[in-house]
Amino acid sequence: MNFLRTAIRRIWATLSDWFIPRFKTLVVEELAPQRLRKRTLYIVEEDGYEEQAVMVCPCGCGSTLQMNLLSDERPCWKVTRHADGTATLHPSVWRKKDCGSHFWFRKGRVQWC
Ligand SMILES: [Zn+2]
Repeated sequence: MNFLRTAIRRIWATLSDWFIPRFKTLVVEELAPQRLRKRTLYIVEEDGYEEQAVMVCPCGCGSTLQMNLLSDERPCWKVTRHADGTATLHPSVWRKKDCGSHFWFRKGRVQWC
C-alpha cells in the first residue's frame, strides 16, 4: 500500500506542477499594497535593501504573512530570486499561532511540511 501512496503523491505533484501556477515575485518600494494579490510574493525594498517578504497565507485563511529579510533582526529569512521570475525563501515559514501553517516556499511553490 505504501508504494501506491507514493505513486499517487508523485503523480499529484506532477499534475499540480502543470495546473497550479507558480507564485510571481513582485518587488515593491517601501510598502506592500493594501490589497495583496494571491499567488504573489512581494519583496519590499527600501533604499535598495530587501526589507520584507509579504504574501497572503497559502492555506486560505486570508492572513498576511510578513517575513523579515534584514539580517540584523530576528527571525530573518533569505530570499533567492530565480531567472524564471520565481523566488525561494529560506528557512521554512511557520506560523506558530492562528492557522499554524508550516511550509517551504521554493521556486514559487508552496511545499507543506
Ligand atoms: Zn493560514
